[in-house]
Amino acid sequence: MSGRDVLLEVENLEKHFKVNQGWIASILESIGGGEPEYVHAVDGVSFELREGETLGLAGESGCGKTTTGMSLVKLHEPTGGDIVYDDTRLSEATDAEVTRFRQNAQMIFQDPFESLNPRMTVYDTVAEPLRIHDVRNETARVERALEFAELQPAEHYFDQYPHELSGGQRQRVAIARALVLDPDFIVADEPVSMLDVSLRAGVLSLLDRMTDEFGLSVVYISHDLSLLRHMCDRLAIMYMGKIVEKGPTDQVIEDPQHPYTRALIDAVPVPDPDVGRERVELQGEVGDVIDVPSGCRFKDRCPSYIGDVCDQVVPPLEAKREFEQAVACHLYESAEGYDPYAEMDGPRASGTADSAESTPADD
Ligand code: SF4
Repeated sequence: MSGRDVLLEVENLEKHFKVNQGWIASILESIGGGEPEYVHAVDGVSFELREGETLGLAGESGCGKTTTGMSLVKLHEPTGGDIVYDDTRLSEATDAEVTRFRQNAQMIFQDPFESLNPRMTVYDTVAEPLRIHDVRNETARVERALEFAELQPAEHYFDQYPHELSGGQRQRVAIARALVLDPDFIVADEPVSMLDVSLRAGVLSLLDRMTDEFGLSVVYISHDLSLLRHMCDRLAIMYMGKIVEKGPTDQVIEDPQHPYTRALIDAVPVPDPDVGRERVELQGEVGDVIDVPSGCRFKDRCPSYIGDVCDQVVPPLEAKREFEQAVACHLYESAEGYDPYAEMDGPRASGTADSAESTPADD
């Protein structure tokens, strides 16, 4: 894995949305009498995507994973940070470089009912990106993409409209449309969650084949850890706009270290009723993404909370001494020698490095 070249580098990505506060607040703001508020949907996310790699972004709804995915393909303009694609820094890219990026970055959406234009035939839907980018050999490319998506013979589907297709066929059309420009990478946002259970396995095996045969890099976005385990080389867990744990998929699933990751994994049902296990149940609600709390954003729900250091110091996502994955949590000793207690106001409170190290075993 590490031998592959980096295709995409996401550097401290931020996407904040201004809150619509109504006309009184707008007037006050326009005369300098009020501060606008922002939803911190994505708040300092960094990762690499290598050529041919599959990366999963997981977390509860509202954690920022879809906004991250949409920012990756430039459906949202980041409000901070940057994306470097194939050595091109997108914030400084020329129009020609942005066009080349758009050609190579495609997205498959969750809901094939919403993502396909009901007035366009299957042929026009798949041909549309070719027309936008002025690519030749339209018919041959549309046919090849549809046949790859197992809509065969392709001509049979050319004149059909989305309402004439099943949910699985619609998602296959969406996949054909994403593939028709021969992109370098695809963001797939909950690609099977709207499909009937009986259709999911077929679409997942198509996505698997797509990754292998096209040598694509794929970012899968899902709350379904079983699906991500099956599809992804690496996994990043998000909470309130930040990545809290990141590493090889098997490592993160089998040996989770962040208390939030542990709780997410514990929430996955085990099919065998005879297999008992201790579960960490998440208490409370996701915090406020407008008035973001100081310190660790997970502190109000954390079963392993260790005191003032969690309240005061934002835990950086960094390598730790004892395991392979990177974790944003003060429970573990930094591999780089970072000391969060040095950043605290006043004396050390309830947390110490020693007590921190002993806590995970108690969870
Ligand atoms: Fe829990 Fe503190 Fe770790 Fe946050 S930093 S996850 S509050 S132990």
